[in-house]
Amino acid sequence: MKSFTLNNGAVIPSIGYGTWQNAREDMVLFALQHGYRHIDTAAIYRNEDMVGRALLRSGIKREECFLVSKLWNTRRGYRTALKAFEETLNALQTDYLDMYLIHWPCARGENADDVNRDTWMALEELYGKGKIRAIGVSNFLRKHLAPLLETAKVLPAVNQIEYHPGYAQRDIFLYNSERNILTQAWAPLGSGAVLGLPLLSELGRKYGRSPAQICLRWCVQQGILPLVKSTTPSRILENIEIFDFVLDQDDMAAIDALPETGFSGMHPDTITF
Ligand code: NDP
Repeated sequence: MKSFTLNNGAVIPSIGYGTWQNAREDMVLFALQHGYRHIDTAAIYRNEDMVGRALLRSGIKREECFLVSKLWNTRRGYRTALKAFEETLNALQTDYLDMYLIHWPCARGENADDVNRDTWMALEELYGKGKIRAIGVSNFLRKHLAPLLETAKVLPAVNQIEYHPGYAQRDIFLYNSERNILTQAWAPLGSGAVLGLPLLSELGRKYGRSPAQICLRWCVQQGILPLVKSTTPSRILENIEIFDFVLDQDDMAAIDALPETGFSGMHPDTITF
């Protein structure tokens, strides 16, 4: 597994195993046994305990697995975030996290930016105490990140956003990149919805790869870290076999130019949770 280096020097494996929806302990264990060393969970997935058990069962040393979780929206704010973090650690049966993210920005109400700042202060405090190796955000657009950065003492290490062929959020990706914030791609396969696109099948034939591998390669080749979920052993194996081929520039550009396809419908301006 290759890796990216975060803006604080921490090293993060370049593909994460996603655990949203239908994640299974035996499949998390299978992923760990077959080379994955980066697991993405969240309090709202209600599976942190299962992820923790799988990691223990794998026998892999804690320090060899990059474990990420996220603070849910109802726990924003300084004190509530500190409490939620303790609950997450307990569920995962660990005493530190490799990374902790604010799952969604507070995007509504007059004091939304203050709520994000207060929440960030809690993460900074935990980071300062060594309870978290890197801190970051998720689903933050330019308009949410800019006010946060005005007062942040620690620069977010990552911004995890929806990103896949047919939904390349270039504006926020560029904003992140200019600040040395790593972009992580959630739903890099569009939750499966983009895999039938003719262009991806055509490129799959050209490179002798599957459409899923083309999507994942397209991410890492831009310097974006994909978090991919599968509960199918053959696909779990296939999804990390992407480091021995290179998409040429014309093919990268052709994927970039795809019209909008497979958008999840989840956007910070419109979500109701
Ligand atoms: P993905 O884009 O990873 O797609 C998963 C779907 O694709 C599943 O139906 C899976 O089926 C299928 N699939 C996986 N690999 C292959 C393959 N090689 N060939 C064909 N089909 C395949 O979507 P997710 O929505 O799960 O997103 C990935 C992760 O991102 C989540 O699990 C979560 O960790 C994170 N996330 C973060 C969010 C955030 O707000 N920060 C929001 C949403 C997701 P099967 O399982 O049957 O193999």
